[in-house]
Amino acid sequence: MGSDSFREKTGGLLEKIKGTREEEIIQQMERLYAEIEAKQSVWYEKSGFTCPEGCGHCCRNFEPDLLDSEARYMAAWLLENQADFAEEAAQGRFPFPENKGCPFWKEDGKYHCAIYGGRPFICRFFGAYGAKSKSGEEVFKPCKFYPTEILASHKPPLAHKQYNAEELKLIFGVLPPVSTDIMEKALSLNPDNKSTRMLREILPETLNHLKWICSMAELEKN
Ligand code: SF4
Ligand code: SF4
Repeated sequence: MGSDSFREKTGGLLEKIKGTREEEIIQQMERLYAEIEAKQSVWYEKSGFTCPEGCGHCCRNFEPDLLDSEARYMAAWLLENQADFAEEAAQGRFPFPENKGCPFWKEDGKYHCAIYGGRPFICRFFGAYGAKSKSGEEVFKPCKFYPTEILASHKPPLAHKQYNAEELKLIFGVLPPVSTDIMEKALSLNPDNKSTRMLREILPETLNHLKWICSMAELEKN
């Protein structure tokens, strides 16, 4: 999977809103997402532990709730990369409204996600993240949907149990990114990150707000 960076694209949304608070938040989010991607690349490369191809059960009946900053990044990514979806979602119309879970989940495709580059933290962590135990130790547990037979065929065999840092170093030689560390940084980015709201609720208004910022920035230039 390549980088999700806006900079690969040429639409220039960030250029359009340069110098605004929105631009700063989106850039900060991009850095945190890049940090996860970089740490997961090391984890995947050294551990060889990846999700089974085409799985995607984790978000089949799951709708993420978003921090304000996650919604802003998702809105910006949509406007930049999926303009049609962005216009529809701004009106509260989603590509797969019949889904019980996320309205961007799709049956086909490698990742089952119609908004992959704009997805929030939880979706980036799925399958390859660690947490902190009560004692502050880094721990990892294979996803509950991970097929037991594939875990058992690992050398050494694995199970649906929690592995501590020492075991992880012995088995994989590396630790996955710790979600709590990254989320602490995310929470400090923006005072509006105190709570979360469901994707279907927060995304339309965030899209409309960002569209308004873009039109204001356009007016100022003219
Ligand atoms: S944003 Fe994508 S990865 Fe996240 S729950 Fe929705 S479909 Fe799944
Ligand atoms: S995190 Fe679990 S459910 Fe999601 S793709 Fe990986 S193995 Fe499948």
